Amino acid sequence: MESWKKNVREAVPYVPGEQPDLPDMIKLNTNENPYPPSPKVGEALCAIRDQDLRLYPDPSAGELTGAVAGYYGLSREQVFVGVGSDDVLAMAFLTFFNGREPVLFPDITYSFYDVWAGLFRIPYRQVPLADDFTIRPEDYKAVNGGIVFPNPNAPTGEALSREAIEEIVAANPGGVVIVDEAYVDFGAVSALPLTEKYDNLLVVQTMSKSRSLAGMRIGYAMGNPGLIRCLNNVKYSFNSYTMDQTALAAGKAAMEDREYFEKTRKKVIETREWTKRELAKLGFSFGDSMGNFIFAAHEFCPAGELFAALRERHIFVRYFDKPRISNYLRITVGTPEEMEALIDFLKKYLRQE
Ligand SMILES: *Cc1c(COP(=O)(O)O)cnc(C)c1O
Repeated sequence: MESWKKNVREAVPYVPGEQPDLPDMIKLNTNENPYPPSPKVGEALCAIRDQDLRLYPDPSAGELTGAVAGYYGLSREQVFVGVGSDDVLAMAFLTFFNGREPVLFPDITYSFYDVWAGLFRIPYRQVPLADDFTIRPEDYKAVNGGIVFPNPNAPTGEALSREAIEEIVAANPGGVVIVDEAYVDFGAVSALPLTEKYDNLLVVQTMSKSRSLAGMRIGYAMGNPGLIRCLNNVKYSFNSYTMDQTALAAGKAAMEDREYFEKTRKKVIETREWTKRELAKLGFSFGDSMGNFIFAAHEFCPAGELFAALRERHIFVRYFDKPRISNYLRITVGTPEEMEALIDFLKKYLRQE
């Protein structure tokens, strides 16, 4: 063995959904928004002059933090921003999960959690979802070194009520509870108001999905100023300038255009509900997804086979060949035209079986 290898940090990386680039593809595999970001984003980007880039960006990301705070009626001290919510979540794991007891998260959930836990050597325990794929609050009353779960959960789309989240947060005053609200704008109820009452609750959101900015990499965390201060201390110990000037300008513009945000998220929700009805007619079953995706299993056609058939037709969906979920496809909600093409293909394919 080469001698340097003994000092390497071993890591098992997260595998993101593929980013194919085919002219005729229908891309429903990474939960991106099918609509472009607010036109205000383009205007803000055009207003950046090349000579502005000579200077470092504002390390506190003040304008962006202020725009997020303004949107939610918070103070800037209650908001932390990062390079997508993946960066925010990684920073939060590093900051808050330093105990000896295991951090708890569901067995079926965002598959980055166990990757960060591995990278940072955080002990963890995966808590099985109920048979109907819901999170049971009582399962999170065991001894733990912190808790993290998405609401709605990914990839199931199942959402918890604010009361259920409060039950978990209230039962764990000795640790930080992170609620990953990547998809909350598509119909679930945010836990944000609970941050006024509980100082151990951190709510994480992203501009990647409901604000159509996956390519810009902007995420944020909201919580009481004590938690936010701890996050900033870790950030400033790592990289002071995580947010570049373009991200600061684009994120602010997206946050301020409420009308566009409301319009596009409503379209996605309507298309999701239409797609659910059509999938049900074709023999698919699924929970009541509150995300911009549907997690569905077919009554007779195995998910792996459907995944491959769709892929051949350049319709990309996500398939996780993992215990409990290997017969499900996660289908991102695209435009009405894209979903019609998906349904048309499935109709023909399932008929000839
Ligand atoms: C998409 C997603 C994220 C990460 O989003 P970013 O693009 O990094 O902001 C985090 N959590 C869940 C559950 C997601 O689905």
